[in-house]
Amino acid sequence: MKLKKEFQKFKGFIFDCDGVIWRGENKIEGVDSVIRYLRKENKRIVFLTNNSTKTREEYAKRLKLFGIDAKIDEIVTSGYVTAQYLREKYGRNLRLYIIGESGLIEEMKNFGFTILSEREVWHCKINVVVVGLDRKLTYEKLAAGAYAILNGAKFIATNADPNIPTEKGLLPGAGAIVSFLKVSTGVKPEIVIGKPNVEIMNFALKILGTDPENTLVVGDRIETDIIAAKRARCKSLIVLTGATTLEEVKKSEIKPDFILESLLDMVL
Ligand SMILES: [Mg+2]
Repeated sequence: MKLKKEFQKFKGFIFDCDGVIWRGENKIEGVDSVIRYLRKENKRIVFLTNNSTKTREEYAKRLKLFGIDAKIDEIVTSGYVTAQYLREKYGRNLRLYIIGESGLIEEMKNFGFTILSEREVWHCKINVVVVGLDRKLTYEKLAAGAYAILNGAKFIATNADPNIPTEKGLLPGAGAIVSFLKVSTGVKPEIVIGKPNVEIMNFALKILGTDPENTLVVGDRIETDIIAAKRARCKSLIVLTGATTLEEVKKSEIKPDFILESLLDMVL
């Protein structure tokens, strides 16, 4: 196995996960061997996902299951960076209402925030409503979030991906939930933490310790991964194993530096 010539110069690699490493519950063919090869070549690696449904520990376990070893520090999720953002900007003493899955709630608890339940929202002061993908979403959860926002809580989105690639095809993502709250309250999120926000990229670059020009961002989505790469002045590679087809890449005004069918095509 050998890296294709055009990728040899890169010292750092930022891999998106959904649609690049796996699709739904299934590993994408050959990705583990490519990552192992990159490690052997002493390349630096970060896994950066907008998906906030799991903690970093859970992502490490998932990668392991697919034959990929990763340290917790090499995993950056929008949920984790959201927690960092909240602590830096507003301190630890926050009461949160979270529309999201157990991984996001766990990540927020690890930072010492107080998490209030859907029922408590109606009679307790909420400082921040944090919104990520929630596959057990109900009208009641949305209504509680909207109520808190209309009563002065800050509205923070972990990401705004419109959908997620799964074995069944594209299913609604966190962005659809964010839109529901935006429409029903008339309030826009104070910040969307995930890609294409450049701050999450700078966070990843700091972990890598590589210069942007020596760093390749690998993703499956133009509006998040590729725009984020450009904003961070990194080079970008789009793979077609996720949310974007070749036709869509060709039609787009935003051009990635490289296009490949799959991560496995990085090597010979
Ligand atoms: Mg993706």
